[in-house]
Amino acid sequence: MGASGAFESILGLHKKTREVFVYLRWRNQTRCYRDECLRKKLVADEVVCQVSLGEYWPSYQTPTRGGVIGEWHAECFEESFSTIFTRKAKAGQCYFCQKNIRDREEVIYGVKGIKPQPPYVRPEQRGHSILFLVCKKCMQVHDLGRISYWYRVNFNEEIALSELLEDNETG
Ligand SMILES: [Zn+2]
Ligand SMILES: [Zn+2]
Repeated sequence: MGASGAFESILGLHKKTREVFVYLRWRNQTRCYRDECLRKKLVADEVVCQVSLGEYWPSYQTPTRGGVIGEWHAECFEESFSTIFTRKAKAGQCYFCQKNIRDREEVIYGVKGIKPQPPYVRPEQRGHSILFLVCKKCMQVHDLGRISYWYRVNFNEEIALSELLEDNETG
């Protein structure tokens, strides 16, 4: 195992730690992420929109869980982001640059589904749908309002590390 192998193990460990950290923080956040939401609490069996960072696996219905960025009541999400996501997302493509997402590429994605009973965090598999996929480059270029804000709050170290990794690969 060379230097880059060691580097990847450290990155892997860091990712796991970060996932646990983000997950724990998210577990305590059971409120809608829309500032103006009057109903606030998100309860099981409600229709919610959840935005996460994860790896894209074409054979799975949705990307694997990396960490939840935020969760909204479905109508709160639609009201907050209807000016950003104005058209229907195409399967397997970045919403903005429309490139095909590679296998296991890290993406930011939104799903709409039924909120499960705790401790489960993922909207129910049956009947949920992908709202959008965004590649990491586009995530850093486009302003997605509160999604961008919570992404930075939850994953700012991640951005720093992935840039480091890219330097390591090209250098
Ligand atoms: Zn709400
Ligand atoms: Zn893109």
